[in-house]
Amino acid sequence: MKNKVGVFFCDCGGAINNIDFDAAVKKVAKFPGVTCVNLSSNLCLEEGEEKMLSCIKEENINRVVVAACSPDFKEHFFRQVLESAGLNGHLFSMANIREQGSWAHDGDITVKAVELIKMAVNRARLLQPVKKKKFPVNKDVLVVGGGFAAINAALQLSRVGLRTTLLEGEAVLGSETAELGGLCGFDIGSMVSEVEGDENIEILTSAEVRATAGKIGDFTVRIRKGGEEISHKYGAVVLATGYQTKLALESELKSDINIVSQEKLCRMLEDPNLEIRPRTIGFMFDFSDENSRLSTLATLNNALAARQKWDSEIYVFCKSVKVDSPRAEKLYREARDCGVVFLKCEARPRITADNGRVKIEAKDVFLGEDTILACDLLVAEELLLPSEGTEALSSLLNIRRDSRGFYQDENVHLYPVASEKKGIFFVGGCRGDLDLSRVLTDVPSVVASVYELLSSGNILAEVERVKADPQKCVACLTCIRVCPHDAIQLVRTDNSKEVAGISDLACDACGVCAAICPAKAIIFQGYRDEEILAQIETIGES
Ligand code: SF4
Ligand code: SF4
Repeated sequence: MKNKVGVFFCDCGGAINNIDFDAAVKKVAKFPGVTCVNLSSNLCLEEGEEKMLSCIKEENINRVVVAACSPDFKEHFFRQVLESAGLNGHLFSMANIREQGSWAHDGDITVKAVELIKMAVNRARLLQPVKKKKFPVNKDVLVVGGGFAAINAALQLSRVGLRTTLLEGEAVLGSETAELGGLCGFDIGSMVSEVEGDENIEILTSAEVRATAGKIGDFTVRIRKGGEEISHKYGAVVLATGYQTKLALESELKSDINIVSQEKLCRMLEDPNLEIRPRTIGFMFDFSDENSRLSTLATLNNALAARQKWDSEIYVFCKSVKVDSPRAEKLYREARDCGVVFLKCEARPRITADNGRVKIEAKDVFLGEDTILACDLLVAEELLLPSEGTEALSSLLNIRRDSRGFYQDENVHLYPVASEKKGIFFVGGCRGDLDLSRVLTDVPSVVASVYELLSSGNILAEVERVKADPQKCVACLTCIRVCPHDAIQLVRTDNSKEVAGISDLACDACGVCAAICPAKAIIFQGYRDEEILAQIETIGES
Protein backbone atom coordinates (compact mmCIF):
# COMPACT_ATOMS: atom_id res chain seq x y z
CA MET A 1 0.00 0.00 0.00
CA LYS A 2 1.24 3.47 -0.86
CA ASN A 3 2.46 5.48 2.11
CA LYS A 4 0.23 8.38 3.07
CA VAL A 5 1.96 10.39 5.78
CA GLY A 6 0.08 12.91 7.88
CA VAL A 7 2.18 15.54 9.66
CA PHE A 8 0.74 17.25 12.74
CA PHE A 9 2.43 20.40 14.01
CA CYS A 10 1.84 21.63 17.53
CA ASP A 11 2.97 25.01 18.90
CA CYS A 12 2.51 23.78 22.48
CA GLY A 13 0.06 26.54 23.35
CA GLY A 14 2.53 29.21 22.22
CA ALA A 15 5.54 27.70 24.03
CA ILE A 16 7.15 27.02 20.63
CA ASN A 17 7.36 30.57 19.33
CA ASN A 18 10.44 30.86 17.17
CA ILE A 19 9.23 28.91 14.14
CA ASP A 20 7.52 30.41 11.10
CA PHE A 21 4.79 27.75 11.07
CA ASP A 22 3.17 28.91 7.81
CA ALA A 23 6.47 28.61 5.94
CA ALA A 24 7.24 25.25 7.61
CA VAL A 25 3.80 23.84 6.71
CA LYS A 26 4.29 24.79 3.04
CA LYS A 27 7.72 23.10 2.89
CA VAL A 28 6.63 19.93 4.71
CA ALA A 29 3.57 19.55 2.45
CA LYS A 30 5.96 19.02 -0.49
CA PHE A 31 7.86 16.09 1.10
CA PRO A 32 7.42 12.75 -0.72
CA GLY A 33 4.58 10.71 0.77
CA VAL A 34 3.13 13.57 2.84
CA THR A 35 -0.57 13.88 2.02
CA CYS A 36 -1.75 16.24 4.73
CA VAL A 37 -0.24 18.76 7.12
CA ASN A 38 -2.05 20.19 10.12
CA LEU A 39 -1.19 22.92 12.61
CA SER A 40 -2.65 22.89 16.12
CA SER A 41 -2.16 24.41 19.48
CA ASN A 42 -2.06 21.82 22.28
CA LEU A 43 -2.34 18.72 20.15
CA CYS A 44 -2.35 16.62 23.31
CA LEU A 45 -5.55 18.20 24.62
CA GLU A 46 -9.04 16.98 23.70
CA GLU A 47 -9.56 19.40 20.83
CA GLY A 48 -6.19 18.55 19.23
CA GLU A 49 -6.78 14.83 19.69
CA GLU A 50 -10.17 15.00 17.97
CA LYS A 51 -8.69 16.96 15.09
CA MET A 52 -5.98 14.34 14.69
CA LEU A 53 -8.46 11.46 14.83
CA SER A 54 -10.79 12.89 12.20
CA CYS A 55 -7.91 13.85 9.91
CA ILE A 56 -6.39 10.32 10.05
CA LYS A 57 -9.78 8.80 9.15
CA GLU A 58 -10.87 11.31 6.51
CA GLU A 59 -7.53 11.45 4.69
CA ASN A 60 -6.98 7.72 5.04
CA ILE A 61 -3.52 8.33 6.47
CA ASN A 62 -1.37 5.26 7.19
CA ARG A 63 1.72 6.90 8.77
CA VAL A 64 1.72 9.75 11.29
CA VAL A 65 4.42 12.26 12.23
CA VAL A 66 3.88 14.62 15.15
CA ALA A 67 6.15 17.67 15.28
CA ALA A 68 5.96 18.80 18.88
CA CYS A 69 7.61 18.03 22.23
CA SER A 70 9.93 15.21 23.29
CA PRO A 71 8.72 11.62 22.72
CA ASP A 72 9.52 11.11 26.41
CA PHE A 73 6.41 13.11 27.25
CA LYS A 74 3.82 12.22 24.68
CA GLU A 75 4.86 9.34 22.43
CA HIS A 76 2.72 6.92 24.37
CA PHE A 77 -0.29 9.23 24.22
CA PHE A 78 -0.04 9.77 20.44
CA ARG A 79 0.35 6.04 19.83
CA GLN A 80 -2.97 5.58 21.62
CA VAL A 81 -4.59 8.22 19.40
CA LEU A 82 -3.43 6.22 16.37
CA GLU A 83 -4.91 3.06 17.87
CA SER A 84 -8.23 4.85 18.46
CA ALA A 85 -8.21 5.85 14.80
CA GLY A 86 -7.72 2.20 13.81
CA LEU A 87 -4.02 2.56 12.90
CA ASN A 88 -1.22 0.52 14.44
CA GLY A 89 0.44 2.66 17.12
CA HIS A 90 3.91 1.91 15.80
CA LEU A 91 3.30 3.58 12.44
CA PHE A 92 4.24 6.78 14.17
CA SER A 93 7.28 9.01 14.50
CA MET A 94 7.92 12.20 16.45
CA ALA A 95 10.00 15.23 15.51
CA ASN A 96 11.06 16.97 18.70
CA ILE A 97 10.90 20.61 17.60
CA ARG A 98 10.48 21.85 21.16
CA GLU A 99 13.36 20.59 23.36
CA GLN A 100 15.67 19.88 20.41
CA GLY A 101 14.57 22.95 18.43
CA SER A 102 12.72 25.90 19.85
CA TRP A 103 14.01 25.67 23.40
CA ALA A 104 17.57 24.80 22.42
CA HIS A 105 18.18 27.94 20.32
CA ASP A 106 17.64 31.67 20.34
CA GLY A 107 16.24 33.13 17.15
CA ASP A 108 14.31 31.58 14.29
CA ILE A 109 14.64 27.79 13.97
CA THR A 110 12.27 27.17 11.06
CA VAL A 111 15.02 25.53 8.96
CA LYS A 112 16.00 23.14 11.76
CA ALA A 113 12.36 22.26 12.49
CA VAL A 114 11.78 21.39 8.83
CA GLU A 115 14.94 19.23 8.85
CA LEU A 116 13.79 17.35 11.96
CA ILE A 117 10.38 16.73 10.39
CA LYS A 118 11.90 15.51 7.15
CA MET A 119 13.98 13.00 9.11
CA ALA A 120 10.88 11.79 10.96
CA VAL A 121 8.86 11.50 7.73
CA ASN A 122 11.59 9.45 6.07
CA ARG A 123 11.72 7.13 9.04
CA ALA A 124 7.93 6.87 9.24
CA ARG A 125 7.73 5.59 5.65
CA LEU A 126 9.69 2.45 6.65
CA LEU A 127 7.98 1.69 9.96
CA GLN A 128 6.36 -1.71 10.40
CA PRO A 129 3.25 -2.42 12.48
CA VAL A 130 3.70 -4.33 15.75
CA LYS A 131 0.90 -6.73 16.64
CA LYS A 132 -0.51 -7.25 20.11
CA LYS A 133 -1.65 -10.46 21.69
CA LYS A 134 -3.34 -11.53 24.91
CA PHE A 135 -1.22 -13.79 27.12
CA PRO A 136 -2.95 -15.75 29.90
CA VAL A 137 -1.67 -15.05 33.41
CA ASN A 138 -1.88 -16.77 36.76
CA LYS A 139 -3.93 -14.65 39.15
CA ASP A 140 -2.26 -15.74 42.41
CA VAL A 141 0.10 -13.36 44.18
CA LEU A 142 3.03 -14.13 46.48
CA VAL A 143 3.79 -11.61 49.23
CA VAL A 144 7.14 -12.22 50.94
CA GLY A 145 7.38 -10.82 54.48
CA GLY A 146 5.37 -10.90 57.67
CA GLY A 147 5.45 -7.35 58.98
CA PHE A 148 3.11 -4.39 58.73
CA ALA A 149 3.66 -3.70 55.01
CA ALA A 150 3.35 -7.37 54.03
CA ILE A 151 0.19 -8.01 56.05
CA ASN A 152 -1.36 -4.78 54.80
CA ALA A 153 -0.53 -5.68 51.19
CA ALA A 154 -1.95 -9.21 51.56
CA LEU A 155 -5.19 -7.91 53.07
CA GLN A 156 -5.67 -5.34 50.33
CA LEU A 157 -4.84 -7.82 47.56
CA SER A 158 -7.38 -10.21 49.01
CA ARG A 159 -9.98 -7.43 49.17
CA VAL A 160 -9.65 -6.85 45.43
CA GLY A 161 -10.21 -10.55 44.85
CA LEU A 162 -6.67 -11.83 44.26
CA ARG A 163 -5.66 -15.06 46.00
CA THR A 164 -2.54 -14.35 48.00
CA THR A 165 0.15 -16.37 49.73
CA LEU A 166 1.86 -14.61 52.62
CA LEU A 167 5.27 -16.15 53.15
CA GLU A 168 7.18 -15.34 56.34
CA GLY A 169 10.51 -16.71 57.54
CA GLU A 170 9.65 -16.29 61.22
CA ALA A 171 7.34 -18.65 63.12
CA VAL A 172 4.64 -16.00 63.65
CA LEU A 173 3.43 -13.03 61.66
CA GLY A 174 4.19 -9.52 62.88
CA SER A 175 6.99 -10.58 65.24
CA GLU A 176 9.70 -8.72 63.36
CA THR A 177 7.75 -5.54 62.70
CA ALA A 178 10.28 -2.74 63.02
CA GLU A 179 9.11 0.12 65.18
CA LEU A 180 11.63 2.79 64.31
CA GLY A 181 9.02 4.58 62.29
CA GLY A 182 6.26 4.04 64.83
CA LEU A 183 2.99 2.35 63.96
CA CYS A 184 0.78 4.82 65.76
CA GLY A 185 -2.87 3.98 65.36
CA PHE A 186 -2.27 0.52 63.90
CA ASP A 187 -2.83 -2.57 65.94
CA ILE A 188 -0.60 -5.18 64.37
CA GLY A 189 -2.26 -7.90 66.48
CA SER A 190 -5.70 -7.31 64.99
CA MET A 191 -4.21 -7.12 61.51
CA VAL A 192 -2.64 -10.56 62.10
CA SER A 193 -6.01 -11.92 63.27
CA GLU A 194 -7.70 -10.48 60.20
CA VAL A 195 -5.19 -11.99 57.82
CA GLU A 196 -5.42 -15.35 59.61
CA GLY A 197 -9.19 -15.35 59.19
CA ASP A 198 -9.10 -14.45 55.49
CA GLU A 199 -9.89 -17.46 53.30
CA ASN A 200 -8.33 -15.80 50.29
CA ILE A 201 -4.94 -15.65 52.02
CA GLU A 202 -2.70 -18.66 52.51
CA ILE A 203 -0.18 -18.13 55.31
CA LEU A 204 3.16 -19.92 55.24
CA THR A 205 5.30 -19.20 58.30
CA SER A 206 8.81 -20.57 58.95
CA ALA A 207 9.06 -20.76 55.19
CA GLU A 208 11.57 -19.54 52.65
CA VAL A 209 11.87 -19.10 48.93
CA ARG A 210 14.37 -21.62 47.53
CA ALA A 211 14.22 -20.98 43.79
CA THR A 212 12.30 -18.98 41.23
CA ALA A 213 11.81 -19.20 37.51
CA GLY A 214 9.54 -17.72 34.87
CA LYS A 215 8.31 -14.27 34.08
CA ILE A 216 5.46 -11.85 34.75
CA GLY A 217 2.14 -13.66 34.88
CA ASP A 218 3.84 -17.03 35.25
CA PHE A 219 6.45 -17.23 38.02
CA THR A 220 7.23 -20.65 39.45
CA VAL A 221 8.42 -20.38 43.05
CA ARG A 222 9.88 -23.27 45.02
CA ILE A 223 9.15 -22.83 48.71
CA ARG A 224 10.62 -24.75 51.63
CA LYS A 225 8.48 -25.20 54.72
CA GLY A 226 9.17 -27.61 57.54
CA GLY A 227 11.65 -29.74 55.62
CA GLU A 228 9.37 -30.05 52.61
CA GLU A 229 9.64 -28.25 49.31
CA ILE A 230 6.60 -27.25 47.26
CA SER A 231 6.27 -25.49 43.94
CA HIS A 232 3.63 -22.88 43.33
CA LYS A 233 2.77 -20.66 40.36
CA TYR A 234 2.18 -16.94 40.81
CA GLY A 235 1.37 -14.10 38.45
CA ALA A 236 3.16 -11.48 40.53
CA VAL A 237 5.50 -11.29 43.52
CA VAL A 238 5.43 -8.54 46.14
CA LEU A 239 8.49 -8.19 48.35
CA ALA A 240 7.84 -6.68 51.77
CA THR A 241 10.79 -7.96 53.71
CA GLY A 242 11.38 -4.73 55.65
CA TYR A 243 14.62 -3.51 57.17
CA GLN A 244 16.67 -4.09 60.28
CA THR A 245 18.44 -1.63 62.53
CA LYS A 246 21.82 -1.73 64.17
CA LEU A 247 23.14 0.54 66.91
CA ALA A 248 25.97 2.69 65.59
CA LEU A 249 28.16 2.37 68.69
CA GLU A 250 31.55 1.12 69.78
CA SER A 251 31.14 -2.59 70.33
CA GLU A 252 32.18 -2.59 74.03
CA LEU A 253 29.34 -0.20 74.90
CA LYS A 254 26.61 -2.18 73.28
CA SER A 255 25.67 -4.10 76.38
CA ASP A 256 25.57 -1.04 78.62
CA ILE A 257 22.14 -0.96 80.19
CA ASN A 258 21.84 2.83 79.87
CA ILE A 259 22.16 2.77 76.12
CA VAL A 260 18.99 1.92 74.25
CA SER A 261 17.58 1.88 70.74
CA GLN A 262 14.65 4.01 69.56
CA GLU A 263 12.49 0.91 69.62
CA LYS A 264 13.39 0.15 73.26
CA LEU A 265 12.68 3.77 74.20
CA CYS A 266 9.26 3.50 72.53
CA ARG A 267 8.48 0.46 74.66
CA MET A 268 9.67 2.23 77.81
CA LEU A 269 7.46 5.21 77.01
CA GLU A 270 4.46 2.95 76.65
CA ASP A 271 5.20 0.96 79.82
CA PRO A 272 2.78 2.05 82.58
CA ASN A 273 4.82 0.08 85.16
CA LEU A 274 8.17 1.73 84.47
CA GLU A 275 9.64 2.33 87.91
CA ILE A 276 12.31 4.95 87.30
CA ARG A 277 11.94 7.63 84.69
CA PRO A 278 15.29 8.90 83.35
CA ARG A 279 15.86 12.52 84.33
CA THR A 280 18.43 13.32 81.65
CA ILE A 281 18.33 11.71 78.24
CA GLY A 282 20.84 12.15 75.42
CA PHE A 283 19.96 11.31 71.81
CA MET A 284 22.53 10.78 69.10
CA PHE A 285 21.64 10.71 65.44
CA ASP A 286 22.60 11.56 61.88
CA PHE A 287 26.38 11.14 62.32
CA SER A 288 26.43 8.00 60.16
CA ASP A 289 23.63 8.97 57.77
CA GLU A 290 22.48 12.57 57.54
CA ASN A 291 19.73 11.73 55.09
CA SER A 292 17.78 9.12 57.01
CA ARG A 293 14.20 10.37 57.19
CA LEU A 294 13.15 7.52 59.38
CA SER A 295 15.86 8.18 61.99
CA THR A 296 15.08 11.90 61.96
CA LEU A 297 11.36 11.34 62.49
CA ALA A 298 11.93 8.68 65.16
CA THR A 299 14.37 10.90 67.07
CA LEU A 300 12.15 13.99 66.94
CA ASN A 301 9.05 11.98 67.84
CA ASN A 302 10.64 10.16 70.76
CA ALA A 303 12.54 13.17 72.11
CA LEU A 304 9.28 15.13 72.20
CA ALA A 305 7.35 12.22 73.74
CA ALA A 306 9.96 11.73 76.50
CA ARG A 307 9.96 15.44 77.25
CA GLN A 308 6.18 15.61 77.46
CA LYS A 309 5.58 12.33 79.27
CA TRP A 310 8.50 12.18 81.70
CA ASP A 311 9.47 15.85 81.84
CA SER A 312 13.08 14.72 81.30
CA GLU A 313 15.88 17.02 80.21
CA ILE A 314 16.52 16.11 76.59
CA TYR A 315 19.74 16.80 74.66
CA VAL A 316 19.96 15.81 71.01
CA PHE A 317 23.51 15.55 69.64
CA CYS A 318 23.31 15.85 65.90
CA LYS A 319 25.24 16.87 62.83
CA SER A 320 22.51 18.64 60.87
CA VAL A 321 18.88 17.87 61.56
CA LYS A 322 17.47 17.58 58.03
CA VAL A 323 13.75 18.18 58.15
CA ASP A 324 12.38 17.70 54.66
CA SER A 325 8.65 17.35 55.25
CA PRO A 326 5.95 19.42 56.97
CA ARG A 327 5.60 16.66 59.56
CA ALA A 328 9.30 16.67 60.44
CA GLU A 329 9.38 20.49 60.50
CA LYS A 330 6.40 20.54 62.88
CA LEU A 331 7.97 17.94 65.18
CA TYR A 332 11.27 19.85 65.24
CA ARG A 333 9.58 23.13 66.16
CA GLU A 334 7.41 21.48 68.79
CA ALA A 335 10.43 19.75 70.32
CA ARG A 336 12.38 23.02 70.54
CA ASP A 337 9.39 24.90 71.96
CA CYS A 338 9.05 22.18 74.58
CA GLY A 339 12.62 22.63 75.73
CA VAL A 340 14.45 19.88 73.82
CA VAL A 341 18.04 21.11 73.31
CA PHE A 342 19.76 20.40 69.98
CA LEU A 343 23.56 20.46 70.01
CA LYS A 344 25.16 20.67 66.60
CA CYS A 345 28.46 18.79 66.49
CA GLU A 346 30.76 18.17 63.57
CA ALA A 347 32.18 14.92 64.86
CA ARG A 348 30.52 11.98 66.54
CA PRO A 349 30.51 12.50 70.34
CA ARG A 350 32.70 10.37 72.58
CA ILE A 351 30.71 8.02 74.78
CA THR A 352 32.02 6.54 78.01
CA ALA A 353 30.49 4.91 81.05
CA ASP A 354 30.40 7.10 84.15
CA ASN A 355 29.31 5.51 87.44
CA GLY A 356 26.22 3.92 85.97
CA ARG A 357 25.50 6.92 83.78
CA VAL A 358 26.60 7.67 80.24
CA LYS A 359 29.09 10.48 79.65
CA ILE A 360 28.79 12.24 76.28
CA GLU A 361 31.62 14.52 75.19
CA ALA A 362 31.25 16.60 72.06
CA LYS A 363 32.36 19.89 70.56
CA ASP A 364 29.41 22.21 70.07
CA VAL A 365 29.79 23.97 66.71
CA PHE A 366 27.99 27.14 67.80
CA LEU A 367 29.59 27.54 71.20
CA GLY A 368 32.95 26.40 69.87
CA GLU A 369 33.44 24.64 73.19
CA ASP A 370 33.56 21.09 74.46
CA THR A 371 30.30 20.00 76.05
CA ILE A 372 30.23 17.23 78.60
CA LEU A 373 26.95 15.71 79.63
CA ALA A 374 26.22 12.87 82.03
CA CYS A 375 22.87 11.27 81.23
CA ASP A 376 20.74 8.58 82.75
CA LEU A 377 19.95 7.22 79.33
CA LEU A 378 21.49 7.45 75.88
CA VAL A 379 19.31 6.75 72.86
CA ALA A 380 21.90 5.66 70.35
CA GLU A 381 22.07 6.38 66.69
CA GLU A 382 20.76 3.52 64.58
CA LEU A 383 21.78 2.38 61.14
CA LEU A 384 19.09 1.20 58.76
CA LEU A 385 20.09 -1.95 56.95
CA PRO A 386 18.34 -4.32 54.56
CA SER A 387 16.77 -7.22 56.40
CA GLU A 388 18.54 -10.54 56.50
CA GLY A 389 18.02 -12.53 53.35
CA THR A 390 17.61 -9.50 51.07
CA GLU A 391 20.76 -10.33 49.15
CA ALA A 392 19.84 -14.00 48.73
CA LEU A 393 16.30 -13.21 47.58
CA SER A 394 17.49 -10.58 45.12
CA SER A 395 19.83 -13.07 43.49
CA LEU A 396 17.13 -15.76 43.40
CA LEU A 397 14.75 -13.35 41.66
CA ASN A 398 17.54 -11.73 39.66
CA ILE A 399 16.69 -8.18 40.67
CA ARG A 400 19.04 -5.33 41.50
CA ARG A 401 19.87 -3.77 44.86
CA ASP A 402 21.06 -0.23 45.45
CA SER A 403 24.42 0.81 46.91
CA ARG A 404 23.10 0.31 50.46
CA GLY A 405 21.79 -3.16 49.70
CA PHE A 406 18.05 -2.33 49.53
CA TYR A 407 15.98 -3.36 46.51
CA GLN A 408 16.50 -0.96 43.64
CA ASP A 409 13.43 0.82 42.27
CA GLU A 410 12.79 0.69 38.54
CA ASN A 411 12.35 4.46 38.51
CA VAL A 412 12.66 6.31 41.77
CA HIS A 413 10.42 9.17 40.63
CA LEU A 414 7.93 7.63 38.24
CA TYR A 415 7.48 4.10 39.49
CA PRO A 416 9.25 3.53 42.78
CA VAL A 417 7.35 0.38 43.80
CA ALA A 418 8.30 -1.72 40.78
CA SER A 419 11.49 -3.65 40.23
CA GLU A 420 13.20 -3.65 36.85
CA LYS A 421 11.74 -7.14 36.37
CA LYS A 422 8.11 -6.90 35.36
CA GLY A 423 5.71 -8.50 37.82
CA ILE A 424 7.97 -8.06 40.88
CA PHE A 425 7.10 -5.20 43.25
CA PHE A 426 8.35 -3.80 46.56
CA VAL A 427 6.53 -2.28 49.49
CA GLY A 428 7.83 -0.64 52.60
CA GLY A 429 11.24 -0.62 54.21
CA CYS A 430 12.78 -3.24 51.92
CA ARG A 431 13.19 -0.50 49.33
CA GLY A 432 14.93 1.91 51.70
CA ASP A 433 14.41 4.57 54.25
CA LEU A 434 10.63 5.01 54.32
CA ASP A 435 8.49 6.34 57.10
CA LEU A 436 5.04 4.97 57.82
CA SER A 437 3.24 7.49 55.62
CA ARG A 438 5.30 6.33 52.62
CA VAL A 439 4.57 2.68 53.43
CA LEU A 440 0.89 3.52 53.52
CA THR A 441 1.06 5.02 50.05
CA ASP A 442 3.20 2.15 48.72
CA VAL A 443 0.66 -0.52 49.52
CA PRO A 444 -2.33 0.76 47.49
CA SER A 445 0.03 1.68 44.68
CA VAL A 446 1.34 -1.90 44.48
CA VAL A 447 -2.13 -3.40 44.90
CA ALA A 448 -3.45 -1.23 42.04
CA SER A 449 -0.52 -2.26 39.80
CA VAL A 450 -0.94 -5.97 40.57
CA TYR A 451 -4.71 -5.76 40.11
CA GLU A 452 -4.31 -4.03 36.75
CA LEU A 453 -1.88 -6.75 35.66
CA LEU A 454 -3.71 -9.84 36.80
CA SER A 455 -7.38 -9.17 37.39
CA SER A 456 -8.56 -9.93 33.86
CA GLY A 457 -6.53 -13.14 33.64
CA ASN A 458 -4.75 -11.84 30.52
CA ILE A 459 -2.03 -9.37 29.66
CA LEU A 460 -2.12 -7.61 26.32
CA ALA A 461 1.47 -7.39 25.09
CA GLU A 462 3.28 -6.50 21.89
CA VAL A 463 4.46 -9.46 19.87
CA GLU A 464 8.02 -9.58 18.55
CA ARG A 465 8.66 -5.86 18.87
CA VAL A 466 12.17 -7.01 19.77
CA LYS A 467 13.35 -10.37 18.46
CA ALA A 468 16.56 -12.24 17.76
CA ASP A 469 17.08 -13.52 14.24
CA PRO A 470 17.85 -17.26 14.72
CA GLN A 471 19.89 -17.30 11.50
CA LYS A 472 22.25 -14.62 12.78
CA CYS A 473 22.36 -15.39 16.52
CA VAL A 474 25.55 -17.18 17.58
CA ALA A 475 24.37 -17.76 21.18
CA CYS A 476 27.18 -15.68 22.62
CA LEU A 477 24.93 -14.80 25.62
CA THR A 478 25.89 -11.11 25.53
CA CYS A 479 22.27 -9.96 25.33
CA ILE A 480 21.25 -12.29 28.15
CA ARG A 481 23.89 -10.78 30.40
CA VAL A 482 22.98 -7.16 29.66
CA CYS A 483 19.19 -7.30 29.50
CA PRO A 484 18.13 -5.23 32.54
CA HIS A 485 14.70 -6.85 32.58
CA ASP A 486 15.81 -10.47 32.54
CA ALA A 487 13.75 -11.01 29.39
CA ILE A 488 16.11 -13.22 27.34
CA GLN A 489 16.84 -16.92 27.61
CA LEU A 490 18.51 -19.43 25.37
CA VAL A 491 15.92 -21.44 23.48
CA ARG A 492 16.20 -24.34 21.06
CA THR A 493 15.00 -23.94 17.49
CA ASP A 494 13.35 -26.74 15.49
CA ASN A 495 16.71 -27.76 14.12
CA SER A 496 18.19 -27.93 17.65
CA LYS A 497 20.22 -24.75 17.39
CA GLU A 498 20.45 -22.71 20.60
CA VAL A 499 19.55 -19.06 20.09
CA ALA A 500 18.44 -16.08 22.15
CA GLY A 501 14.69 -16.08 22.76
CA ILE A 502 13.08 -12.84 23.93
CA SER A 503 9.95 -12.97 26.07
CA ASP A 504 7.32 -10.58 24.71
CA LEU A 505 5.85 -10.25 28.18
CA ALA A 506 9.07 -9.56 30.06
CA CYS A 507 10.76 -7.33 27.46
CA ASP A 508 10.52 -3.60 28.17
CA ALA A 509 11.75 -2.56 24.71
CA CYS A 510 14.71 -0.67 26.15
CA GLY A 511 16.85 -1.56 23.11
CA VAL A 512 20.03 -2.39 25.03
CA CYS A 513 20.32 -5.87 23.51
CA ALA A 514 19.88 -4.57 19.95
CA ALA A 515 22.68 -2.07 20.47
CA ILE A 516 25.13 -4.55 21.95
CA CYS A 517 24.59 -7.76 19.93
CA PRO A 518 27.92 -8.39 18.15
CA ALA A 519 26.19 -10.43 15.43
CA LYS A 520 23.59 -7.71 14.74
CA ALA A 521 21.00 -10.41 15.24
CA ILE A 522 18.45 -8.42 17.23
CA ILE A 523 15.68 -6.66 15.37
CA PHE A 524 14.10 -3.79 17.26
CA GLN A 525 11.01 -2.60 15.38
CA GLY A 526 11.12 1.16 14.87
CA TYR A 527 14.89 1.25 15.35
CA ARG A 528 16.08 -1.07 12.58
CA ASP A 529 19.23 0.05 10.77
CA GLU A 530 17.27 1.07 7.68
CA GLU A 531 14.92 3.23 9.74
CA ILE A 532 17.75 5.04 11.49
CA LEU A 533 19.75 5.43 8.27
CA ALA A 534 16.70 6.83 6.49
CA GLN A 535 16.61 9.58 9.12
CA ILE A 536 20.32 10.33 8.91
CA GLU A 537 20.46 10.38 5.11
CA THR A 538 18.07 13.33 4.82
CA ILE A 539 20.11 15.68 7.00
CA GLY A 540 21.00 18.82 5.09
CA GLU A 541 18.72 18.09 2.12
CA SER A 542 16.16 20.82 2.83
S1 SF4 B 1 24.01 -11.02 21.70
FE1 SF4 B 1 23.25 -11.48 19.63
S2 SF4 B 1 24.43 -13.24 18.97
FE2 SF4 B 1 24.72 -13.07 21.18
S3 SF4 B 1 23.10 -14.43 22.03
FE3 SF4 B 1 22.23 -12.37 21.93
S4 SF4 B 1 21.19 -12.31 19.94
FE4 SF4 B 1 22.56 -14.06 19.89
S1 SF4 C 1 14.94 -4.63 24.46
FE1 SF4 C 1 16.39 -6.30 24.80
S2 SF4 C 1 17.59 -5.65 26.60
FE2 SF4 C 1 15.72 -4.39 26.57
S3 SF4 C 1 14.23 -5.51 27.81
FE3 SF4 C 1 13.89 -6.18 25.72
S4 SF4 C 1 15.14 -8.01 25.53
FE4 SF4 C 1 15.89 -6.92 27.34
